[in-house]
Amino acid sequence: MTKAKSSAEKRPVFHCQQCGDCCAGRGGIFVRPEEVGDMAAFLEMDEPEFYRRFVESSPLGNRLTIANGVCVFVENNRCRVHPVKPFICRQWPFLPALLVDAEEFEAAKGACPGINPECSHADFVDAALQAGKNNP
Ligand code: SF4
Ligand code: SF4
Repeated sequence: MTKAKSSAEKRPVFHCQQCGDCCAGRGGIFVRPEEVGDMAAFLEMDEPEFYRRFVESSPLGNRLTIANGVCVFVENNRCRVHPVKPFICRQWPFLPALLVDAEEFEAAKGACPGINPECSHADFVDAALQAGKNNP
């Protein structure tokens, strides 16, 4: 008899549906100085100009600005700085808050259609560890 596959085996834990919702930056697209340097270099721009045009301060740290409801780098539904996008963007949806808090993870399922809605928190954490998503 063939063993029935679990839900997580039928569908990957995460498969991006390209909906673009995560680029709305509702939680803040936080950037580190070295990431600003990389993005400024990619855009052939000096860092002070990059900060002036694309970064705003917040109580939790510097973050990319939002324009028309989405990250300032959304252009034709694509990321203008994709090769050097911030770690938080490369890490999504495997954010620390979702890895340590099962309720946060369940809430994220409603925001990101790429997360398998039947996936358990344990499977999500395993997938993050296997993908090395917990390391910058
Ligand atoms: S919200 Fe999820 S499915 Fe949509 S683009 Fe972002 S990662 Fe992909
Ligand atoms: S930097 Fe790119 S991936 Fe990150 S939120 Fe902005 S457009 Fe989306």
